[in-house]
Amino acid sequence: MSNRGLVSNGMRNRSERPQVIVFLGAPGVGKGTQAAWLSSRLSIPVLSTGAMLRAEAKQRSAAGMRLRRLLASGSLVADDLVCAAAESQLRDLFSGDGVILDGFPRTVAQARFLGGLSAELGAPAPVVIHLQVSKDSLLRRLSTRRHCSNCGTVYNLSTCPSRRGRVCERDGGALVQRDDDTERVILHRFDEYEKLSAPLVAYYAGTNYYAIDGDRELEQISADLEAMVCGAAVMAA
Ligand code: AMP
Repeated sequence: MSNRGLVSNGMRNRSERPQVIVFLGAPGVGKGTQAAWLSSRLSIPVLSTGAMLRAEAKQRSAAGMRLRRLLASGSLVADDLVCAAAESQLRDLFSGDGVILDGFPRTVAQARFLGGLSAELGAPAPVVIHLQVSKDSLLRRLSTRRHCSNCGTVYNLSTCPSRRGRVCERDGGALVQRDDDTERVILHRFDEYEKLSAPLVAYYAGTNYYAIDGDRELEQISADLEAMVCGAAVMAA
């Protein structure tokens, strides 16, 4: 399996044990943004299963086309497929510096898979960060979200627009909307989240689980993350 979906800042973490950090939260809560911030803070890579699957879906094959349709519908991809796609990267990352997981696990079955793999490889239980934002804000955020068709930089038409208008500030690429960021699909993604992902909160309750109010300035959220994750890492060491 390739290393699709993996974003590394190229620096090595200095801690001795790998760290595993899981971001939970409904679509649009800011998992990707905060995962990227934490990645540069802790110098460990992010694995985004959404990015990994979108890259797979670009394949010019029947499987690629099926995946494209599924992603555009807003439904979750089957557990066995996602776990198989993520497994080899997770094995590498668990024996390295660790990983920040953006969008995985998304079901209790995936969480059990992650727990089994961690136990097999001697990786620590994850620190779980649950970002919480009201549904109305999420709908607003997602329907105004755009990304650069070249480099993937994410913008928001109302809260974080490109200073170059309809093109990316970095490379001039056209700003486009994700297929699954239309209102009808967003509502289906919320339903999928409630049905399949919300039970993860109970699954991780009583572990290193932290809820964070994600409806604030980015810097305030990052400050909470810093206190929770870095504090939890010290306690777990
Ligand atoms: P994201 O980029 O995290 O919003 O994910 C985009 C889409 O990819 C989701 O709506 C799902 O269809 C799929 N996806 C991402 N991660 C997973 C996962 N862990 N399990 C199942 N489907 C996933």
